[in-house]
Amino acid sequence: CEEVQGYFVWRAWNRGGRVMIRPDGPDLAHSSCVSCGLCVDVCPTGALEDRSVVNYGWPERWVETTCPYCGVGCQMLVGVRGGRIVDVRPSRRLDAVNRGNLCVKGRYAWEYVYAPDRVLHPLVRVGGEWRQVSWEEAIQFVASRLKEILAKYGPRAVGVLVSARVTSEEEYLQAKFARVVLGTNNVDSCARVCHEPSAAALEEVLGTGGATNTFDDLDEARTVMLVGSNITENHPVIGVRLKRLASEGRVKLIVVDPRRTEIARYADYHLQLRPGTDVALLNAMANVIVEEGLYDRDFVARRVDGFEEFAEVVRNYTPEFAERVTGVPAGAIREAARLYATNRPSMIMWGLGATEHVQGMEIVYLLIDLALITGNVGRPGAGLVPLRGKNNVQGTAIMGAHPRKLLGAVPVSDPAQRARFERAWGHPVPSEPGMDGIEMIEAADRGELKALIVFGEDIVMSHPYRALTERALQKLELLVVVDMFHNETSKYAHVFLPAASSFEKDGTFINADRRVQRVRKVIEPLGESKPDWQIVVELARAMGYGDAFNYSSPEDVWNEIRSLWPAVYGITYERLDRGESLHYPTPSPDSPPVKVLYADKFGVGERARLRPVMYIPPPEQPTPEYPLLLTTGRVLYHFNMGSMTRRTPNAAIAPEDFVEINPEDAEALGVGDGDLVRVTSKYGSAVLRARVTDRVPRGTLFATVHYPEASINRVVGPHVDRLSHIPEYKVTAVRVERAG
Ligand code: SF4
Repeated sequence: CEEVQGYFVWRAWNRGGRVMIRPDGPDLAHSSCVSCGLCVDVCPTGALEDRSVVNYGWPERWVETTCPYCGVGCQMLVGVRGGRIVDVRPSRRLDAVNRGNLCVKGRYAWEYVYAPDRVLHPLVRVGGEWRQVSWEEAIQFVASRLKEILAKYGPRAVGVLVSARVTSEEEYLQAKFARVVLGTNNVDSCARVCHEPSAAALEEVLGTGGATNTFDDLDEARTVMLVGSNITENHPVIGVRLKRLASEGRVKLIVVDPRRTEIARYADYHLQLRPGTDVALLNAMANVIVEEGLYDRDFVARRVDGFEEFAEVVRNYTPEFAERVTGVPAGAIREAARLYATNRPSMIMWGLGATEHVQGMEIVYLLIDLALITGNVGRPGAGLVPLRGKNNVQGTAIMGAHPRKLLGAVPVSDPAQRARFERAWGHPVPSEPGMDGIEMIEAADRGELKALIVFGEDIVMSHPYRALTERALQKLELLVVVDMFHNETSKYAHVFLPAASSFEKDGTFINADRRVQRVRKVIEPLGESKPDWQIVVELARAMGYGDAFNYSSPEDVWNEIRSLWPAVYGITYERLDRGESLHYPTPSPDSPPVKVLYADKFGVGERARLRPVMYIPPPEQPTPEYPLLLTTGRVLYHFNMGSMTRRTPNAAIAPEDFVEINPEDAEALGVGDGDLVRVTSKYGSAVLRARVTDRVPRGTLFATVHYPEASINRVVGPHVDRLSHIPEYKVTAVRVERAG
């Protein structure tokens, strides 16, 4: 617990013969335990055991697969007894990203598979009520409605939202379905509302929309700058590794975050900026590096364009100016900038606190700029690592789930690329770029989008400005939801198709550091649920496109992906099943993976161009009516909108959403810890329980996003980044009052 996880739960109490090993609270549930289960794994006496093993018995067999939650991509062993999952333990593979660890989600939050409200049969809404139907009837119904809508309104009126929770093979097929069967590029994914700025900026400036380095590079980094990431709760296994490295003094740590998160306690510099002022802060760091001559002259001369123009822009952003904008002392900005530039290799990692802003893409430009001017690209221990959220969101956009990009992120507007796919698919590929997820909802609200298929995402909960999403979905003539559970989105659906969980199918996920990893079938799909790839194939066949969707297994689909995307040509199921750890690119079946990108040249060529950025104040500012700024995020025990974790014992630990409020604000408002409060913006209001804590500074609130009962996205407004269309989730002006 102490040495690996960096927690101090287990203590020796008493002395001599009376010594006892006990947690640091009255019991484990009321201790500092984060339920990672590591003590159970290593307990040499069997005194500690998982309750599920006690209840169901020791597994008869174990299957290695990939965690269904976050982008870390931990490898896990799933224990099965009598055809039922009874336990999950970490994989023993030392080359796995998790090195023998799991967090509470991967380790214990698997019982959603057996949740009593899981939808196990296809449903069609008739007269406002759900009616259970056969698969054949459901597929025929969807196919005939889609044909009618296509005939009446054309392909611009239909769209597909691809799931980031399913396998890469399934993402590829969902995107291919949109283009080949529906004839539209209206295809997007939840990356639009999380890391689209990261993928787009990295691809545009450097050449690949993914991490330049791997998580293992942390061992070689001397400085890590963590921007807008509550890493110990959102990417816990990597968070724990970073925490340990920092506490042992093996890395210097800079944390940029308005909240005093757990990892901030281990930081050498915690730059606690005002929400939405990241551009001013990062420009000021660049200012120090340029003005003090701390940039890597040789690297800039050999590999970087646009330095003079960049230096000219950042010259205006002195640390004193940034202090006035961000609230971070100029001295701390100077020292953090010097540390990042000189104590190399330095790595930058970032989360949604950096991207979910109206300047989200420009913030990522600046992170790349900082790495480029300091020569922190193309070498071990350095680089840029976006902390992707969902298990396979790294795969989503690269699989073609993007309105402007085909598989491999090649532009759909390029005739040569389209021709390549047309030859492989045997059908035309539409050339006109499509609408992204945000634009599709706006189009539905205007009555222009008529049909939408949503795979594995609760967009009513995950999109901003809930009132707009609900109004738009009500106007659709056909909404098909493919998921495991009813959710806020399925309230507006006409058809519900029951999907299998990742424990019930084969395939691959791609994690946040570009590792392609196997997902293996552990149990048969429950009830009549089916893997998404089979659902897509059946729909395509019913629409008359069986020739282009002729697959008998996920491996067939993967081999088609390999044939069309050179970066994964060398990654075969056989190599993965031999236990090889393969990041993309792995260009040939006998080549090793390229773990550190851009050692000699960038994907865009010999030189990369800096992108100077001007600070634009966020559209939401405190006013007398709405005097506080709201940011949003997640907790350790839940994943995103909570549809899976809320159906596990984790819900007992974190049973509701909450809003953090600084003690001085709370006192001024007459709000006590545990009170129910109403948070209100111009766009709506939500009721949550208050947590009075100095984790948030005065004037800033932090609310969690997991429970539909609270649905904090009612409060979040419609502002989006003009470049990437990511919504502004992190800065909304609000007021707070006691709710009863
Ligand atoms: Fe799963 Fe992420 Fe936790 Fe690993 S860190 S066990 S991938 S949720």
